[in-house]
Amino acid sequence: MKFTVFGNPIAHSLSPLIHQRFAEQFGIELDYTRSLTSKAGFAAAVAKFFRSGGAGANVTVPFKTVAADVVTHLTPRAAHAGAVNTLIPLGHGQLAGDTTDGEGLVRDLQRVLERDELPYEVLVIGAGGAASSVIEALQEAGARVVMSNRSAAKVSALQDDFNDLQAIPFSELARPPSLNGQVQRVVVNATSASLSGAELPIHSAWFQESVLAYDMMYGKQSTAFLKQAQAAGATKVADGLGMLVEQAALSFALWHDGQLPNVEPVLPAVRSALEAN
Ligand code: NDP
Repeated sequence: MKFTVFGNPIAHSLSPLIHQRFAEQFGIELDYTRSLTSKAGFAAAVAKFFRSGGAGANVTVPFKTVAADVVTHLTPRAAHAGAVNTLIPLGHGQLAGDTTDGEGLVRDLQRVLERDELPYEVLVIGAGGAASSVIEALQEAGARVVMSNRSAAKVSALQDDFNDLQAIPFSELARPPSLNGQVQRVVVNATSASLSGAELPIHSAWFQESVLAYDMMYGKQSTAFLKQAQAAGATKVADGLGMLVEQAALSFALWHDGQLPNVEPVLPAVRSALEAN
């Protein structure tokens, strides 16, 4: 069975390793490759892959939004998020698009926080593709989602699409939270600021009062955001590697008759591969 991940850049994608490890759990043989493509060539590359017998594909940066345009069916959650990270062939040239990013984040937060419900205020910083993909799943898991982004217009647009989405001006993050100490909070960095090593203008009290500071980004070393959170006195920190593995497990189940892999034994192997890269 042939699978791939479309992205640009894609050389360091950990998805082939993750899916190999999952397949071993079920005795499945698969061939999971990396596909480098361009925005202009994306639709043709997807069509070619599925014409040649591809059994499923993942989509990563920067194609998650355009992927919604190349499918014939969108799941409700992918339509709501406006993003696709999983392609599923339906036969007769039909292709479904789904997103497992939101549920992947929720499952990782549940794992890290060791609880099924998320009765927290989740402050999501950022309003790009990653942020919009996780709002619905967080709300369904019981979280009150509050969003803050450097460009306020993006948050307003998301508020038109999602009910009960709260917002706070980005400049307010530089001051202590107004209900300091009265809210159980998780702070999620869904910006790409850590890519450039930039800290965010957030007052240390946001971290001190939170049960967890979570960066969707991950890397060989701790991210700028997690270093900032730890220096400010955060109780607990986690990077997005667990989200990556969880969203992959959910994609795997979509392609393999609902068989959901166990992520626990896979996580350390993926962490080692990341650090060795
Ligand atoms: P986008 O480019 O769509 O959005 C980027 C966001 O970051 C925007 O909200 C932008 O704000 C904000 N931003 C960028 N630089 C800064 C800065 N210096 N200060 C404040 N805000 C900033 O990116 P994505 O949403 O696709 O990805 C965001 C992050 O999530 C990436 O690091 C990505 O690696 C990670 N990710 C991780 C996944 C996982 O499985 N772990 C899955 C998906 C994404 P503005 O609107 O003002 O420009």
